[in-house]
Amino acid sequence: MTLLCERCYGPIDPAGEDYVRLAHISHAEPSGDVVWNDATVHTAQSCPALVHADGAGRHRRAA
Ligand SMILES: [Zn+2]
Repeated sequence: MTLLCERCYGPIDPAGEDYVRLAHISHAEPSGDVVWNDATVHTAQSCPALVHADGAGRHRRAA
């Protein structure tokens, strides 16, 4: 199964990148069972979407 990052939509290499797995409630069945959606995101240091973001992740500047 390919893991995709919810922040940058890029693939995550579980062997070489840091990431976290999240669980979101999708909906509840009439029986009362809760259906979960699993999601993954790169941690801030690994995610290209956060390289230039203000207020999140590590800040990097071009030389
Ligand atoms: Zn990412």
